[in-house]
Amino acid sequence: MDLYRPAYPRSRGAAHYRRPGTSASYCGRTVEAAPTEEKYVTGVCRTCVKAEQRDRVAAEETAADRAIGGPTLAERAGMRYALVGKGRRVHYSNNDDTLCGREVTEYTDGVDQRHSNLCALCIRAAEERAYARALAAASPLAAAAVDLAETVEQADTDRAAAEEEARQAAAMVTEAEATEGTWRGEWIGATEATGHLFSLTPDREQGALFT
Ligand SMILES: [Zn+2]
Ligand SMILES: [Zn+2]
Repeated sequence: MDLYRPAYPRSRGAAHYRRPGTSASYCGRTVEAAPTEEKYVTGVCRTCVKAEQRDRVAAEETAADRAIGGPTLAERAGMRYALVGKGRRVHYSNNDDTLCGREVTEYTDGVDQRHSNLCALCIRAAEERAYARALAAASPLAAAAVDLAETVEQADTDRAAAEEEARQAAAMVTEAEATEGTWRGEWIGATEATGHLFSLTPDREQGALFT
């Protein structure tokens, strides 16, 4: 960042930072057209240092979302841009809350004229998510672990289904036996009745014999 002396400096004094695109410093002084050197100044104005830092951080945050020729951080983290209330910052969200824990008021397409800065907390959280997603995508081991987990889950589902099938089959057998038992019981009863009937015949025969 270039250092500027106020226009028409009376003596060596503090240098200032020029607000980009203007002829004034961040602290509101009109500055010389050309930048100066450290040896001509005694230090840098605190107001200008703070303001310039704020601007630079905001610019870096906005840049963090833009990878030249690549997907944005929002895309890499699977996030949407969101606004909170009348706030001027743009946040990331993948549900009704932002990554920094605020309630989403509305979703937006990204930074614009009115909402020119991204939320630093959201950026940090999104970077972590993007990193985790990239790791999962890049690591065959992680992918294998996911596959295995799904296979085990499938096996569990299959076993549960097989057990249920066996249980139902057992229930049907039991039911069939019970029915059979009943039928058998009836049959036994009938046999006994028949036996009784038959027993009458020998009686009769016996009777006949005796007759
Ligand atoms: Zn200044
Ligand atoms: Zn946020």
